[in-house]
Amino acid sequence: MNNITKKFFFIDGKDYTPKTFYKHINPNNNQVFCDVGIAENDEINLAVESSKKAFMKWSKSSIKERISILQKVYELLIQMYGAEGEKTPLKELICNETGKRLPESDIEVIESSDMVKFYIDHAKKLLIEEKININKELWPTKESFVVHEPIGVIGVIKAWNYPLEIPIWSIVPAIISGNTVVFKPSERSSSVGLKIAEIFDKAGLPNGVLNVVTGDANTGKLLTQHNDINMIDFTGGTISGIEVAKTCASGLKKYNLELGGNDTALVCQDADIELATNGIVWGSFCNSGQVCVGIKRVLVHNSVKKLFLDKVVEKTNTLKETVDYGPLISEDQLLDVQRFIDDAISKGADIVTGGVKIDSLDGFYYKPTVLTNISTNMKLIQEECFGPVMPIIFFDDIDDAIKDINSSKYGLGASVWTSNNEYGKKIAQNIQSGMVWVNDVNVAFAEAPWGGIKDSGNGISLSAKSIYEYTYEKHISIDNSVEIRRSWWYPYE
Ligand code: NDP
Repeated sequence: MNNITKKFFFIDGKDYTPKTFYKHINPNNNQVFCDVGIAENDEINLAVESSKKAFMKWSKSSIKERISILQKVYELLIQMYGAEGEKTPLKELICNETGKRLPESDIEVIESSDMVKFYIDHAKKLLIEEKININKELWPTKESFVVHEPIGVIGVIKAWNYPLEIPIWSIVPAIISGNTVVFKPSERSSSVGLKIAEIFDKAGLPNGVLNVVTGDANTGKLLTQHNDINMIDFTGGTISGIEVAKTCASGLKKYNLELGGNDTALVCQDADIELATNGIVWGSFCNSGQVCVGIKRVLVHNSVKKLFLDKVVEKTNTLKETVDYGPLISEDQLLDVQRFIDDAISKGADIVTGGVKIDSLDGFYYKPTVLTNISTNMKLIQEECFGPVMPIIFFDDIDDAIKDINSSKYGLGASVWTSNNEYGKKIAQNIQSGMVWVNDVNVAFAEAPWGGIKDSGNGISLSAKSIYEYTYEKHISIDNSVEIRRSWWYPYE
């Protein structure tokens, strides 16, 4: 596969030359990074046709064969990781294409490998047929089984902010359970998307089991509408996710949605402020705030107001551009963040630190920003701001704070900072979200479910249960009786 300037689609095990290209800009320096193809209907048809054909064979392949290919994927990923802090080509590609810092791509490759290993270790057991215990007194001759069947061709459409990990956590359970995949990475992370195809191809995945078509939102729409796609696995913003859900519903297509969030960090009266401020500064500003479960607002108990604010500001001000945080993904994203901040200021917010873009750098850098005097009518509170912005709100009563968190239309993650883990767990139980971290933030384990509620999505990723998102349960009922007629069949008299 060609890895230099021009990027091709990967269809049926071969590079496929697109008719049209667009230029992806390197967010680090505002220079052209590569030319990426935009797939149109006929190219999507080819990819879907290839995956449909491959499904016939792949869905009948043994779990042993699938696992042995994924084992090679795992080994390749470990090789491509190298060592912590080592600038391997894979990590450099992630950094250059999306603006991540090296430690951020380090953890991304580690978590991706962890997820592949998890499915290698567990898929066989999870996909085994189950015998169902039917009531023998009423149905003495009956035997029932449930088998987990692959759904078919799965359209995997993904965001750019974890360009390796988020596609991997869908592609791996999808193919290990016998499906084939047409993957459309974000237009902003197509090179990493194509690298995934290269890794799986090198590991020996048969042609057509994983096809990659690059493009823009329209490419995603065409894929979603395609009649021969049986399921869409989508990670992205809530507005696009709703559009995907509507299209899928009109064709009764299955979908799994991992969408945006507006996560709160709740700092209790008894929090260890040193720990909380370390965690919250990282949780708000890593990847320049472009994280679905990034901290997007902080609720702080009034009794620790001054200490918390002083420490947060001090720690935020030590962060160095290009070292501790990278650029935003695009100029549009930077302008969007500025609009959120302008809106907050126009409604009475105060900038404690930051609030400006960094003009001395060519990339799309924005200073990590802390704001106070926040009110609920600000866009920052109502919508997801995908950037390095930390609005801080102070509270007196914990029940009011929880009510405030739950008033959000989003329900992806939250974090609770307290010296009492039992208390933290109790608060976590009252927060309406898919994930709550107590004294930590934004950490994913292959074994634990990942997903949101409300406007943050439905379905789950990761964990043993996620494999069943990519299968349907078929009930096989066998009658062992020697009679030639069941008692409830004709004739009735
Ligand atoms: P978008 O919703 O803009 O795009 C996501 C993917 O969908 C991209 O590949 C995009 O193509 C494509 N797309 C966009 N519109 C449509 C559509 N109508 N139909 C089909 N496909 C479409 O999100 P971003 O890429 O900007 O990612 C950021 C968002 O993703 C944030 O809201 C973030 O919170 C969320 N996210 C959620 C995660 C979770 O686990 N819940 C994890 C990571 C991110 P293209 O980019 O080429 O336009």
